[in-house]
Amino acid sequence: MTEVKQASAAVKEKLYHLIDEKTQRMIDIRRYLHQHPEVSFEEKATGAYIAKFYEGKSVAVETNYGDGYGVVVVIDSGRPGKTVALRADFDALPVQEETGLPYASQNKGAMHACGHDGHTAYMLILAEALYEMRADFDGKIKIVHQPAEETPPGGARGMIKAGVLDGVDAMLGVHAWAPIPYGTIECTKGAVMAGRSSIKMTIKGKGGHGSAPQLANDANVAASFFVAAAQTIVSRRVDPFEMATLTIGNFDGKGSFNVIKDAVYLEGDVRFMKQETCDIVEKNFKQMVKGLETMFGVEVDLFYDTDYPVLNNNDALTEFVQHSLQTSNIAELQHLDMTHTESASEDFAYFAQKVPSTFMFVGEMPDDGVFYPHHSPKFVINEKALPLTAKAVGAAALDILANK
Ligand SMILES: [Zn+2]
Ligand SMILES: [Zn+2]
Repeated sequence: MTEVKQASAAVKEKLYHLIDEKTQRMIDIRRYLHQHPEVSFEEKATGAYIAKFYEGKSVAVETNYGDGYGVVVVIDSGRPGKTVALRADFDALPVQEETGLPYASQNKGAMHACGHDGHTAYMLILAEALYEMRADFDGKIKIVHQPAEETPPGGARGMIKAGVLDGVDAMLGVHAWAPIPYGTIECTKGAVMAGRSSIKMTIKGKGGHGSAPQLANDANVAASFFVAAAQTIVSRRVDPFEMATLTIGNFDGKGSFNVIKDAVYLEGDVRFMKQETCDIVEKNFKQMVKGLETMFGVEVDLFYDTDYPVLNNNDALTEFVQHSLQTSNIAELQHLDMTHTESASEDFAYFAQKVPSTFMFVGEMPDDGVFYPHHSPKFVINEKALPLTAKAVGAAALDILANK
């Protein structure tokens, strides 16, 4: 994309105006979805709600797309050109909401604690605005409403297998991000979100009486040693300029004060920004497990699985989108950050492996500066970020389509 063309300022102004007019509906939709969350792979009613939104519009709508309740909508200008795909995920989390908001979750044990309700609300309104503007662009816009982002294997892979990326030239995705101030967008080239491995392991020793350790083989001692030793993989085996984390988040050693535990169950999580780092951690972890067996005479059942890959933004497309954001005159966009990355993981990474993609973060920190992390039962968003998101993604999509 050396010869950069852009949609006209008038076309973008029209988009912004339409979004401003529809902002209250966007917020109403978001609050409705917030009250009715459904967890990954169970989002039947949410999928139906999304499909219903498009009723009466002359767009192609496909439901139950992929392995779950995905909805794919094509807005066709009727003229040849590029196809740009816009993705929004719509699943919630198995979290009991504690925000005390008047529109808090009505579904016990389920909560939109990652902001996917906002993603869906902004995308529906953006899709409607772009539909109304279909005389103003060439080519096609494919709206990808993706279920089950939160739970591996994730919803993206099934949609790709079903053909969602066929004919797609570029793809854009967004995560609204509470730790970033409102008015900021992060749009960075290269690796922007971490890949992830998950670990489950049982360390089996031999139970016995606390007063006679020589007759038993203490799994708690072996597991404790292992958890501490495994930390040296990141500190001693990974290049200090590379990012990696290794967390043992579950240590099930609960027993009785005078009983030597026969087995301990551990669960862990690894994050990395390069496949090479992933391989180094896995190799050393497995080596250490073997060493533990020899050293303590225990037996280890290990499950080590790498699920979501590193999310790599396409350099050329991302530079194009950065330029688009810088020049699109979006009043609410105060700061464009082109360097930040996030250590969380995202199954948008699968789309980005297949087609040139850009994934951005939009600041949704509440105005008082008090925020709770994503997945917290007290998680809240700044709804003002929703129209900004719609304008930014819409303007970038229109600019991409201007380059036939
Ligand atoms: Zn999440
Ligand atoms: Zn999320």
